[in-house]
Amino acid sequence: MNEVAAGLAAVKARIAAAVIRAGRDPAAVTLVAVTKTFGADEIRPAIAAGQRDFGENRVQEAAAKWPGLKNGGPKLNLHLIGPLQTNKVRDAVALFDAIHSLDRDKLAEALSKEMARQERRLALFVQVNTGEEPQKAGVLPGETASFVERCRAKHGLPVKGLMCIPPQDEDPAPHFDMLARLGDGLGLRALSMGMSGDFETAIAHGATHVRVGSAIFGSRG
Ligand SMILES: *Cc1c(COP(=O)(O)O)cnc(C)c1O
Repeated sequence: MNEVAAGLAAVKARIAAAVIRAGRDPAAVTLVAVTKTFGADEIRPAIAAGQRDFGENRVQEAAAKWPGLKNGGPKLNLHLIGPLQTNKVRDAVALFDAIHSLDRDKLAEALSKEMARQERRLALFVQVNTGEEPQKAGVLPGETASFVERCRAKHGLPVKGLMCIPPQDEDPAPHFDMLARLGDGLGLRALSMGMSGDFETAIAHGATHVRVGSAIFGSRG
C-alpha cells in the first residue's frame, strides 16, 4: 500500500475508535485531509483511496493545485481552513465548498455578496479564538453569539458551525469544550476542531470535522 493510503487508513481507524469510545455516530465525523504544502502526487493516492474532503489554508496555493486534481474525478469537498482576505473572496467562493475561518463583518459581507453573485452556497464556520490569543484570528468567545447573529440577520449567511485552533502549548480539551458549549447555545451542530495531535480528544468533545494533515501525509518539513 502507498504511504499516503496507509496513513489515511490509520487515521480513519483512529477516528472510528474515538467515535466508538465517545458513543457517537460514525457518520457524524468528517475527516478533512489537510494537504497544504503537499503536491498532486501525494494527494492523488488519497483520492484514489476514497478520501473526498480536503483542507487547504491558502487560496492561491489551492487555486494552483486543485482544479487539475478535481478535473474528471469524483466530486470533492474543498475546505478553506486558513485566513481569508476580502480581495480573495471571489476566488475562494469559486473554488471552495466550505470556509472555516469566517471571523469579521467585512468578510461576512463580502462572502454574502459573492455567494449570491456566483449562486454558490458554501458551508460556513465561524472561527473562535478560544484562547484569546492576540496574534490569532477568530472572534472572541464573548463576541461569538453577537457575530453569528449578525451573520444570520444582517448578512443573510447560513452559518453551519464553529471552528477553533487551541493555543499550541495548552491542553486542548477545555478549548474544545468551550467551542462545543458555544455551539450548543447557538444551535450550531457542526464543530471544526482537532488536528493531528489532538483529533481524538476533539471527537470526545463533539467534533464533527477534524482537520488532519501530518498524521496522514507526513511532516511538512
Ligand atoms: C495545518 C492545519 C491543520 C492540520 O495540522 P496537522 O497538525 O498537520 O494535522 C489543521 N488546521 C489548520 C487550521 C491548519 O492550518
